[in-house]
Amino acid sequence: MDLQEKIKAVENAFEDLDKEIASFQSWSSLACKAGCGKCCFKADIEATTLEFLPFAQFLYENSRAYEWLAKIDSSDQTLCTILDPMQGGVGLCSQYRHRGLICRLFGFSARTNKYGKKELVTCQVIKGENPDGVIRTQDRIENGFEVPVMNQHYMRLHAIDLELTREFFPINQAIKRAIEVILHYHAYRS
Ligand code: SF4
Repeated sequence: MDLQEKIKAVENAFEDLDKEIASFQSWSSLACKAGCGKCCFKADIEATTLEFLPFAQFLYENSRAYEWLAKIDSSDQTLCTILDPMQGGVGLCSQYRHRGLICRLFGFSARTNKYGKKELVTCQVIKGENPDGVIRTQDRIENGFEVPVMNQHYMRLHAIDLELTREFFPINQAIKRAIEVILHYHAYRS
């Protein structure tokens, strides 16, 4: 697979995941609080390079890759550079369409514990707003209702590119590395 095919494969994986999440949200009735975005304010979000390749390619195609490299370098590096607290609307992600895998999974997925049991991973806001819904959802998951499973989605990305998913970086570093991979690729092709 060349880099363009890998980007397409990541986009396909995200599309499939988004459908799974929509189905999960529909049966569980769990949803983000309008305009929340609190999970993006965590200082220790980590991601792999591969999950931000579609965003990096988008920046390259719009001649914004260097602008974003400078933006990341001049940021304080603690919060995700994509986060825009001034943004109105449903959330605070300024690049929602291009957000990473962790951004999609968090709140609406399960991890498999060491006993093989699926445990819902959701946020404090959802737990606080809808505690009964969270308990009911966990019960249903244990009874076989479908939920996106984190490790399965990470495995799908591993299968696309082992090297670019081997390590987790602070999210800004993952975005920066993705931009550098794209710039390197296009530099060689031109
Ligand atoms: S990419 Fe968007 S959704 Fe993900 S942490 Fe950054 S602001 Fe939040």
